[in-house]
Amino acid sequence: MAAVTIEKFAVGAVFTLVSASSIDWLVHRYVYQKPAEVHMKLSGKFFSPDYFTARDRFREIAVSAGGGLETIPLDAKGPNAEALGIDIAWFGAANPRRVLLHSSGLHGVEGFAGSAIQFQLLNDVPTLPEDAALIVVHVLNPYGMAWLRRFNENNVDLNRNFLADRIYAGAPPTYGALNSFLNPQSPPASDLFILKAGWLILTEGMPALKQAVVGGQYEYPKGLFFGGKHFEQGPEKYKTFLTDRLSSAERIIAIDVHTGLGKHGEDTLLVEEGDYDVLRSMFGERVAPSEPDRSVAYRIRGALDTMIPQAVPKAQVFSVTQEFGTYSATRVLHALREENRWHHYGAGTLDHPTKRILKETFYPQDETWQESVLNRGKELLKQGLSKL
Ligand SMILES: [Zn+2]
Repeated sequence: MAAVTIEKFAVGAVFTLVSASSIDWLVHRYVYQKPAEVHMKLSGKFFSPDYFTARDRFREIAVSAGGGLETIPLDAKGPNAEALGIDIAWFGAANPRRVLLHSSGLHGVEGFAGSAIQFQLLNDVPTLPEDAALIVVHVLNPYGMAWLRRFNENNVDLNRNFLADRIYAGAPPTYGALNSFLNPQSPPASDLFILKAGWLILTEGMPALKQAVVGGQYEYPKGLFFGGKHFEQGPEKYKTFLTDRLSSAERIIAIDVHTGLGKHGEDTLLVEEGDYDVLRSMFGERVAPSEPDRSVAYRIRGALDTMIPQAVPKAQVFSVTQEFGTYSATRVLHALREENRWHHYGAGTLDHPTKRILKETFYPQDETWQESVLNRGKELLKQGLSKL
């Protein structure tokens, strides 16, 4: 009797445990895991942990989605001497009249966002008009993304390198005056940066300071925002690619994705000064005026935007830079400064905190931010396609 009771009790207990765990499992599966799955779909599925993972995924999906895949090989190498190149997926007409051109990673470490938008796009390639092509350019500065740098193998900020006049000289006087503060010739160290930066913002004013510091310079080769001393290999080969392959194009809409500037998770569409009115009528109020005191924008020489009309002179070109905000300008500048010190005056290896911080600065590990990037990235592509 006692044994039966114990047995009954044991069976009951096991049953209760099973039911409880089943209910728990069901609740977990259908209540808690649902949102997690949505997150997986939006961010986890498309964002990559490093350049080489992103590259493999891009190349694979480009082919399985039915696109043509080609690579512009580069001499620069990855951290383990890997070969690097600019991968390009091509959908639609071989000799298109209309082109939607989407590029990422011109600023290396900023490439995670653009790469994820592209990966999402290739998972569901839109139907194109017969005379149109969709060209997806994956990571224009693979060295920077692989090494977690904004700059390329020659410390060049590629969005300052496309100079039509080829005059690679000059620096704003304020940049020269601030050179020792921006680019200390020593390994990373704490040195009251935030305090000094705050003082400068107060005395110089943010718009003027931003213009002088990040507008680009051609005199300090180890400094931040160095535009180079000649046309760099990646930009030159990319320009040649566009000239060779887009001779039939009459209308090009170009979107280049960046991160860092602006409010966390929000995007601004930066455009060349003269294109503001027409692009605002096409893409709406996110298009920012290029004056530094009216928006997050600043004027630069040698931007990618200015190269496309030179490469394809017969085409009408509409270029926007889609910039996703991450953290404050001071925090971004500090992260760039410390990583730059590590690169030039330390070992430059990937395992250093300055690399981790720089990556987080341009690629926040924050699902809300990542979802916003994917949603807005998709929205702009849709808008671009409808305006072709
Ligand atoms: Zn950028």
